[in-house]
Amino acid sequence: SPDGAPALDDAALTLRRVFGYDTFREGQREIIDHVVAGGDALVLMPTGGGKSLCYQIPALVRSGTGIVVSPLIALMQDQVDAMRALGVRANFLNSTQGVDERRTVETLFAAGELDLLYLAPERLALESTMRLIDRAEVSLFAIDEAHCVSQWGHDFRPDYLTLSALHERWPKIPRVALTATATPATREEIVTRLGLGEARQFVASFDRPNIDYRIEPKKEPKRQLLKLLRGEHAGDAGVVYCLSRGSVEKIAAFLVENGIHALPYHAGLDARVRAEHQARFLREDGVVMVATIAFGMGIDKPDVRFVAHMDLPKSVEGYYQETGRAGRDGLPATAWLAYGLQDVVQLRKLIDTSEGDDAHRRNLAAHLSSMLMLCETVECRRVGLLTYFGQESSPCGNCDTCRFPPESWDATVAAQKVLSTVFRLQRERRQKFGAGQIIDILLGRHTPKVEQFNHASLTVFGVGTELGESEWRAVVRQLLALGLLAVEGDYGTLVLTAASADVLGQRREVRMRRDKPRPAAPAASAPA
Ligand code: ADP
Ligand code: ZN
Repeated sequence: SPDGAPALDDAALTLRRVFGYDTFREGQREIIDHVVAGGDALVLMPTGGGKSLCYQIPALVRSGTGIVVSPLIALMQDQVDAMRALGVRANFLNSTQGVDERRTVETLFAAGELDLLYLAPERLALESTMRLIDRAEVSLFAIDEAHCVSQWGHDFRPDYLTLSALHERWPKIPRVALTATATPATREEIVTRLGLGEARQFVASFDRPNIDYRIEPKKEPKRQLLKLLRGEHAGDAGVVYCLSRGSVEKIAAFLVENGIHALPYHAGLDARVRAEHQARFLREDGVVMVATIAFGMGIDKPDVRFVAHMDLPKSVEGYYQETGRAGRDGLPATAWLAYGLQDVVQLRKLIDTSEGDDAHRRNLAAHLSSMLMLCETVECRRVGLLTYFGQESSPCGNCDTCRFPPESWDATVAAQKVLSTVFRLQRERRQKFGAGQIIDILLGRHTPKVEQFNHASLTVFGVGTELGESEWRAVVRQLLALGLLAVEGDYGTLVLTAASADVLGQRREVRMRRDKPRPAAPAASAPA
């Protein structure tokens, strides 16, 4: 080149001219080169890592149309608009379109006039779509959100199973599968189901060093949330996740009453209201979105300063994905979760009543128990998270357990007291009760319900006065997390598990985390 700088190749030119970026991010260059050369790839990269360019650039550099399979139908229009704004000839095919609109897109595609075609998986499964693809020149298949093919994962879409046909029908067209979910089990399933055994795997680090992970015992959740927002995130944009639509409405109203610019978002709201709230969250400064997990997939807002969970996520994958929406600009951000006994009871109930077979329910239960382990760990949260995703790391120094190491204590005797109360009720009286009644018995309280069932005559009545009510709740919560106790039924009744016998029979010791409110240390005092 005239000024002596090395000439840029096609990929680097496209990065600069089309996307306006000067340098590739970690990992992008190798992936792009591999796919441009016609290789298959499996890309595991955290949310915000820059996966899209890994197929967009090869699609532009190679000749023909790049087909992007995505389950996010609601976002296709936005994705296409964003590409068109950059001058890329993009379009999509999905069920939201009318016949005429679809015909137009198909004609453009067959004529070679598209750089990118976004396709819903159920459209790809149609023989008519396959014949259309036969007639066109295709540069690559990108399979976005590839973990949707995994039945073990948290986001299974049956339509994704048909994607195994891509390779059989068009073996010469390179495929790049991308996901932000990278547990070893999910990865293996993606490889098997999509026939990616020969594909090169690109695994980025899942560490998000700028996120400060915190999990607190849930005491007065609304006040705890308000304290976080006022104390550390005044005026910041953030997301508050709630399990139900009802609690979304309540929390949003509560925040507004307290002078915080909050908006609700859940699937029960009118589509227009949802779109408006989402647009305001993206456009305006300092909006707090109070939402169910329906909100967030594919939303690219770099300056989300906090993600707060008012309820326990159902899996570590979900937790990681949701918290990953914070701090995509690389600046410090907070991932905060308030978690209590009631969460465990509620999620267990959801699992017990969920549709699907036993294997599915066992799957959900395994996901929940991994999440509980992350909550109750006395070790670094980040190490716990990364270990879950099969990546090694060392204690981070800025999560809550690193900064304020929790004390653990020998809870064997306390555990025995709870379990033997449950045991006595179950065996001697054929009764089952929830945590509240068990704790009343241990504390020796003469409540109306204790009188009604004559529980004061149990030998365990009043044997637990060494701990207070909230400490007993923490014991029960951790027994559930450890699988030493289980809940069943609509009323959250407690029952023993196979493992309970080891504790009752003095064959197993139980160590527990001591709940302590986190000292109100300003974020600035954190080690850099
Ligand atoms: P992912 O799909 O992995 O969640 P995206 O592809 O949406 O991430 O990228 C996240 C953000 O990073 C987007 O705003 C994108 O434009 C930006 N980005 C991606 N690659 C680069 C790059 N090489 N230089 C600068 N910004 C980039
Ligand atoms: Zn840590």
